[in-house]
Amino acid sequence: MPLKPDLPLPESGARRVGFAIVGLGQLSVEELIPAARTSEHATIKALVTDDEEKGRAYARALDLTEDDVYTYERFEDLKEREDVEAVYIVLPNSLHRDFTERAARMGKHVLCEKPLSVNAQEAQAMVDACRAGGVLLMTAYRCQYTPQHWAAREAVQSGRLGKVKLLDSVHGQSEDDPEAWRMRLDLAGGGPLPDVGIYSLNTVRFVLGTEPEWVFSTLHQPEGDERFREVEESVSFMLGFPGGVVANCLTSYGIHKTATLRVLGEEGTVLMDPAFTYQGLSLTISDPQGDFQPKLPDEDQFGLEFDHFAQRVRDGRAPWTPGEEGVQDHRVMDAIYESARTGQVVRLTPVPGRDAFRGEKPEAAGQ
Ligand code: NAD
Repeated sequence: MPLKPDLPLPESGARRVGFAIVGLGQLSVEELIPAARTSEHATIKALVTDDEEKGRAYARALDLTEDDVYTYERFEDLKEREDVEAVYIVLPNSLHRDFTERAARMGKHVLCEKPLSVNAQEAQAMVDACRAGGVLLMTAYRCQYTPQHWAAREAVQSGRLGKVKLLDSVHGQSEDDPEAWRMRLDLAGGGPLPDVGIYSLNTVRFVLGTEPEWVFSTLHQPEGDERFREVEESVSFMLGFPGGVVANCLTSYGIHKTATLRVLGEEGTVLMDPAFTYQGLSLTISDPQGDFQPKLPDEDQFGLEFDHFAQRVRDGRAPWTPGEEGVQDHRVMDAIYESARTGQVVRLTPVPGRDAFRGEKPEAAGQ
């Protein structure tokens, strides 16, 4: 069982927020379960899976019982569990909406993996359902919780780089399995764009704090490659922000893993390479005084996310990356696909102000 060894269990007894993990795939078992074991504010109380044997094995590892394992059909039985205050949805993208709506009807708060859904309309329905159910919805954008990304944002927004002009970001990897759900349009909602390209989009929006006014894009879907029967292999997209700031982004399922972000100002630059990995984020800030690599802790990004959401559940305030933040990325991605289809620049509804779709800053954000 790939639970990370040697992780001390936090003191029990504190009023940690109890979560049900919905879906026991790779992310849940390799990252989220180990992260929750060290979380100060969150703890796993139940598992929801169609693989009951796997569920029982992880339940044992988490000191839970067989009664804490639920099938997808028995999801509603969680309603009776007062110790389960929130669910963390870690399923293929098109299933996020159904489980979010079901959780909201039960009065359970929802932390949902990115992308929030498969398009803006579906994602907005999730926001509406959570509002109607009086529960919080957070999009799990782990890169908006790391000290490295906050330091990059601070460098950009403090004026240290001078006037920011351009950004670029590449996020891609090689996907070889033509049968994977990520290659099915109905389950994934697209190819690398909603899966990994979304990191470039979301992080560019995060460091600038503003919203794009237009997009232009092209995509490539190679004929005869069985992996890309339904989804694209690569997307190149350009985002135009207020004041003429432009971001150029590339995403692909056909390249060796790459995860970079650059911000180019008149007097300085930010470089993150890698910019989106789980560990080993590397940040260099260059200004007229030289090149600086701030010494920042390599924190468990999923632990930071768990803690932030659990604190918001406790105090009832909006999480920093609420459902609305996920909807906005879908609006932009819908426009990216439209631009690729039509060959035209697509204009987006102007959004005034800063951090227009975000909630309360994380306590550890350092700003
Ligand atoms: P995975 O394929 O490893 O796991 C998916 C889980 O969903 C499995 O337990 C599977 O049994 C279950 N499932 C239920 N119905 C299914 C169906 N119809 N088809 C396929 N699987 C079905 O996927 P994953 O990598 O764990 O991704 C899950 C979610 O987490 C996705 O939304 C993905 O975008 C997101 N994710 C986020 C990050 C991150 O860094 N934040 C990283 C990886 C994945």
